[in-house]
Amino acid sequence: MSDLTRMTATEIAALVAGGETSAVEVTRAHLDRIAEVDDRVHAFLHVDTDGALAAARAVDERRAAGEELGPLAGVPVAVKDVLATRGVPTTVGSKILEGWRPPYDATIVQRLRDAGTVMLGKTNMDEFAMGSSTEYSAYGPTHNPWDLTRIPGGSGGGSAAALAAYEAPLAIGSDTGGSIRQPGAVTGTVGAKPTYGGTSRYGLVAFSSSLDTPGPCARNVLDAALLHQVIGGHDPRDSTSIPQPMPDVVAAARLGATGDLTGVRLGIVSEFVGEGAETGVMTAFRESVDALTKMGAEVVEISCPTFAYALPAYYLIAPSECSSNLARFDGVRFGLRVGDDGNRSLEEVMSLTREAGFGPEVKRRIMIGTYALSSGYYDAYYGQAQKVRTLITRDFTAAFEQVDALISPTTPFTAFPIGARTADPYQMYLADLFTIPTNLYGGPGISVPCGLSEGLPVGLQVMAPTMADDRMYRVAAALESAVGTFTPPAL
Ligand code: GLN
Repeated sequence: MSDLTRMTATEIAALVAGGETSAVEVTRAHLDRIAEVDDRVHAFLHVDTDGALAAARAVDERRAAGEELGPLAGVPVAVKDVLATRGVPTTVGSKILEGWRPPYDATIVQRLRDAGTVMLGKTNMDEFAMGSSTEYSAYGPTHNPWDLTRIPGGSGGGSAAALAAYEAPLAIGSDTGGSIRQPGAVTGTVGAKPTYGGTSRYGLVAFSSSLDTPGPCARNVLDAALLHQVIGGHDPRDSTSIPQPMPDVVAAARLGATGDLTGVRLGIVSEFVGEGAETGVMTAFRESVDALTKMGAEVVEISCPTFAYALPAYYLIAPSECSSNLARFDGVRFGLRVGDDGNRSLEEVMSLTREAGFGPEVKRRIMIGTYALSSGYYDAYYGQAQKVRTLITRDFTAAFEQVDALISPTTPFTAFPIGARTADPYQMYLADLFTIPTNLYGGPGISVPCGLSEGLPVGLQVMAPTMADDRMYRVAAALESAVGTFTPPAL
């Protein structure tokens, strides 16, 4: 049953629950697909064949025993290598954690296991989730299944590529400035960044703690919502987790799929539809706006003037937090240790380990962050960026007094060729121009495929108020019902 890899998560779960296929069969089909294509795609850093088959067998046994299975039981999922997985290598795309097998599961991973999903393995990513193309992985780049010479986005390019290459029907990503939505956009898949605090950070290797948000990736909106529901909700182990029930994102996705947006008010962010985006991206976006209007949505333009300062503010706040968070990688506690020959001091071993273990982009950020936080510069850089963050939040709040959700293209450009932007960090940073404001504000954002430009996927972003994740699913599902899903050429 080789077409198991082409099915949605919803379809797979129904077949498993109905006994028409087994979780083991589904898992084998995806492991076979990985074996067939992943030497070209390189979506995975680690494939956990034995663990996946054991998890699948457990689901089949529970079913045979008459136990009631959850809505995603037996469905394979690929997990970004930023989440701790007990006994399974967790590298964050970095040499500094090579060989580390965490002694515990991240809350999200635990919830995936409890729900009976089957973890296939860990996906490739830019080192420490810093990047927009997966080219900064210490283990080599991932290739976009739409065109293997192009990037799959980043930092979660592995998760997005695994979906587009039919290696997994579901995946987990993490979004600090766009790393779920931007890879979703350039691979023609769906990526949702939940409200900050709506998904647990316990066991998520920290990059920028006030921004990091793990979330679901899928090939369609309903599957993303089902995954969101499984992984989301309050976690007492994360002090920033929101102690409130989360909105019913699955019901919202189902409602949206009816294609009726009567009474829904949408605001196009004026600042994001000017010269910033490629022509082909803008054409697909404009056509989608027409489709949303036809479904009954009222669409207006809204100016959010401070969004223009989001990128510079982010590139002070994120490096500042990373410079502090990454201090723990000292060669003592986990992963790599270099130069410990019995003669060197602790400081020397730490310094040699960090020199060898971190790549150039990570070092650049640690240096920028350390500088921005240093005495004498703190107010001018970090303090100023925090003020800008407050202004951006005010722009969101004011916009949401007029509209239910904001929309924009997800990215200014489609997937670029591997190597095209690595020489100039600023060119790489621009990939997140439209996604970063959401992270600074803390609200939810989703990217949903909205068309093609010269044969490459374009994403539309829906941004909603904090804890109104259901709204973005409704709009995204409605758009999907109008434009359909997009299939890459055969690999
Ligand atoms: N590309 C952005 C960065 O490099 C965002 C990364 C992310 O969301 N993890 O920081």
